[in-house]
Amino acid sequence: MTKKIAVLAGDGIGPEIVTEALKVLDCVAAETGLDVRIEHGLVGGAAYDASGSPLPEATLALGKEADAVLLGAVGGPKWESLDHAVRPERGLLGLRSELGLFSNLRPAILHPQLVDASTLKADVVSGLDIMIMRELTSGIYFGTPRGIRELSDGEREGFNTLVYRESEIRRIGHSALRIARKRDRRVCSVDKANVLEATELWREVMIEVAEQYPDVELSHMYVDNAAMQLVRAPKQFDVIVTTNMFGDILSDCASMLTGSIGMLPSASLDGNGKGMYEPIHGSAPDITGRGCANPLATILSLAMLLRYSLDESDAAEHIEQAVADALDAGIRTPDIYSHGMKKVGTVPMGDAVVAALRRAYS
Ligand code: NAD
Repeated sequence: MTKKIAVLAGDGIGPEIVTEALKVLDCVAAETGLDVRIEHGLVGGAAYDASGSPLPEATLALGKEADAVLLGAVGGPKWESLDHAVRPERGLLGLRSELGLFSNLRPAILHPQLVDASTLKADVVSGLDIMIMRELTSGIYFGTPRGIRELSDGEREGFNTLVYRESEIRRIGHSALRIARKRDRRVCSVDKANVLEATELWREVMIEVAEQYPDVELSHMYVDNAAMQLVRAPKQFDVIVTTNMFGDILSDCASMLTGSIGMLPSASLDGNGKGMYEPIHGSAPDITGRGCANPLATILSLAMLLRYSLDESDAAEHIEQAVADALDAGIRTPDIYSHGMKKVGTVPMGDAVVAALRRAYS
C-alpha cells in the first residue's frame, strides 16, 4: 500500500536540508521498491508569507492525512516582530497538538568518528546511544490555572500548575516500553516523586504499565540525580522517559553530549505510529543560502520516520549505516569539521550518503 509522507520544509536552511533527505528517500525507494508518495506543504514563516497563517488549513489537512510528516525547521528574524499567535513556531506547536503527538523521542547518539566534538572525555561518551522520551502535550507547560497575579499586599505572584492524568502517563509509558523493545529493553523513568505528588502518581502508573512488559527492565531516578548521571556516566541509560519539563531540560543536556546540533534527529509520535520527524536544530538564519548546512540530522530524522511510522527498520538501518560510512570516509560539513578531514557543503554531504547507500544495497 502506498504510504504518504507530508514534507514541510519550512524556513531558513529547512528547504536545503530537506532536499538532501528526499534524495536519500528516492534512493531507498529505487533500491527497495518502497511505495511512498510525497506531498509538500507550507509551514512557519513561509506559510505566513503565503497565507497569513503559520499553519494553513491545507497543511494541517495534509498532516492529518499523511502516514508521517518530515519537517525541516521554522522561524527566522524576518518574522520575530509578528504577534505571538502567527509566529512561525506556532505552526509547529499547532501541528504537534492537532496531530496528538504526545511522545517526543530524541536519540542522543555519538558517532565514533565525532568523539572529539563532545565536551566530555572520549571514554565517557564513546559508543553513547540513548533515547530520551519526553511527554509533549501535558504537564506544567499546559496545566491551569497559570498566570501572574497581584496579591492583596501589592506583591506580584507567578504560578503554574503541574498536572498529569493517569491516562496521559499511561500512554507515554506504553510508548517508552514499546520503544525499549526495539533497543536494549531498559527504561529509566525520571521523576521527582519525593517532592511532587503529580510525579508520585507518574511513578505509580509507570510501575503498573511496566507489568505488561515483563521483558523490559524498569528503573526510577529523581530528576536531579538523572541530570548528574547524564554528564557523569551517560552510557548507563538505554531509554529515559520523563515529564514535559524534565524532558525539555534533560534532552537538551543529552543532545550536547554528542557535540553537534547538526547531527541530531527527533520524532514526535501519537499512539498509533503516526509521527512528525525533524532535526532538533532550528532554521539557522546565519548560514541560510550558503550551502554549508549539515543535512545529516534531517537524513537521520528520515531514518526514524521509516523505522517508527512506516515499519521499515531495515531501510532505517541502511540509512544510518550510510551516514556512518560517509563520516568514516572523512566527509564533513563545516560544523563537524576537524583537521585532516574533507570539508564539503550540504549537497555533496547528501550525495556522499546516497552513494554509500547505493553501495550498501548493491
Ligand atoms: P539554530 O538551531 O537555528 O542555530 C543555532 C546555531 O547552530 C547556529 O549557529 C546555526 O548556524 C547552527 N546550526 C543549526 N543547525 C545547523 C545545521 N544543520 N548545520 C550547521 N549548523 C547548524 O537556533 P537559533 O539560532 O537559536 O534559532 C534560529 C531560528 O530557528 C529562530 O527563529 C528559532 O525560533 C528557530 N528554531 C526553530 C526550531 C524548529 O523549527 N524546530 C528549533 C529551534 C529554533
